[in-house]
Amino acid sequence: MRQIRQIIVHCTATRPDWWDKKTINEQVKEVEKWHVVDRGWKAIGYHYLIGRNGEVVQGRPIEMIGSHARGHNKDSIGIALFGGFGSDADDLATDHFTPLQLAAAYELIRKLQGQYNIKSERVIGHNRISSKACPGFRVQKWLAGMSLSEATAKKPERTKPTQSKTVKASAATVAASAGTAVTSLSGMNETSQYIILGFAGLTILFGVYIMRERIKAWAEGWK
Ligand SMILES: [Zn+2]
Repeated sequence: MRQIRQIIVHCTATRPDWWDKKTINEQVKEVEKWHVVDRGWKAIGYHYLIGRNGEVVQGRPIEMIGSHARGHNKDSIGIALFGGFGSDADDLATDHFTPLQLAAAYELIRKLQGQYNIKSERVIGHNRISSKACPGFRVQKWLAGMSLSEATAKKPERTKPTQSKTVKASAATVAASAGTAVTSLSGMNETSQYIILGFAGLTILFGVYIMRERIKAWAEGWK
């Protein structure tokens, strides 16, 4: 197995609506034809291609050295996104590629990084190592933005279960003893406080009911 140290991102330089009535496999076959028939390569140049709807299609096998970035093929994986026609190196990724496509690219890159232990600074655009505009945006800048939004999107998911656990635990404490709960109230958020106060109220009502029943029974015993 060859040593893989970097991921290089490309675009097919096709228009956004190029072959949009065809399937992704037909589109990939067409690119393969350009590379194999027109250029005489052994196989399609890239290892992965990503369609406008985020479909990921394997190109040439990873074990096979790619043909996508002169001087950098030996230790890299080449990924191409469909689109990017007329783009400049400094454009935004979203100027030329769909959100589905970029999300799929990000996911694939992260997966490959984990699989081959590739550092984030080794995920680059073709434009980083050549004078080309390809893929039509700055990959490092785009990746930084994606991981930032990923981190932000994950935050509420992480805090939610912890919050409900706290509420559950506090509720149990209240059920055991309404008195102890009051001391722990101050350190909680409003929702938790309301829930606890509710439980405390129920506990008191229940206590009052039991007392009433006992008094009733006691009074009846005197009759
Ligand atoms: Zn390229």
